[in-house]
Amino acid sequence: MEEIKEFSLIYLKLQKNIAKILFSNKPGKSQKILLMSITAKQKADKWAEKYVPIKFNKAAKKAQKKLTRLREKKKRNINKEKIIKSRINIIKDRVTFIHNSIMFFVNEYIAINEKTNGFVVANIQNFYREPVKFRKTVLGAEVKKEVRAGLTIFDRYTKTGFLYRATLSRGEIQRNIKKLLIRKFGDIDFIAITTRSGKIRRYQLKTYTEMLARTEMSYIQNRAIKVTCQEWENDLVIILPGFSKCTSGICDNYAGQIFSLSGRSKTYPVLDVEFPLHPNCVHGMSPTTQEGIAADKEREAA
Ligand SMILES: [Zn+2]
Repeated sequence: MEEIKEFSLIYLKLQKNIAKILFSNKPGKSQKILLMSITAKQKADKWAEKYVPIKFNKAAKKAQKKLTRLREKKKRNINKEKIIKSRINIIKDRVTFIHNSIMFFVNEYIAINEKTNGFVVANIQNFYREPVKFRKTVLGAEVKKEVRAGLTIFDRYTKTGFLYRATLSRGEIQRNIKKLLIRKFGDIDFIAITTRSGKIRRYQLKTYTEMLARTEMSYIQNRAIKVTCQEWENDLVIILPGFSKCTSGICDNYAGQIFSLSGRSKTYPVLDVEFPLHPNCVHGMSPTTQEGIAADKEREAA
């Protein structure tokens, strides 16, 4: 979906620009990156303000259409603005979290770089001259622990350094390594999330932002369908099977099944969870009625 790409692109661009600044020798890196990250944050906030209402209204309209087709009638009004606004605010909180995660990494990285006499960029020349000595001093045990985040880059950089050493001039090596660093900057796991079980999971910016956008869009759609059902006092919903199976398997008991929103139904179990059940969940829902279910069964039998 376009809007998911759009959200992710804000951060892919930011990441590229951060890398350019981070691996340059110019002063005031942290300040420049901070300003860039704030601009990205504003863009991401605007994204939420734009797409949350669009997705909500679209899904609500679709649900209304289906209910009309099932000959149901709208019975009351619910304040949807409030629901939309509160979800926009939740996304804005996540955006702030992304911003903080990036800045934490950047500042830590700059600090490490300073501590190790210009860990990556400034030492490319020294490394070139005395690779073994440089490796020993920079990658001493104490530093090693601290450069966790930068280490992946460093490993690639040293390997590439050796690789290029025989055939290229020093200037060419420097340029190539810088290019490589900028490109490989995307592999860094900026985002650390504590899961419900207390484990820490790390995500690349691209993975995380795509996941966030997709999950939020799915959430807001399902929320719109639920609210529409409440407005029409329609109790039954079907959890759509989705195009693929969710890898975690926790959705298997819901996919393709009919549920009662209120729990008043004697035939169908209450829907006691909120979809999406987990990040990247493929399941949405759709309103249905006894009549609708009967019609579906007939169609299937025919
Ligand atoms: Zn799922």
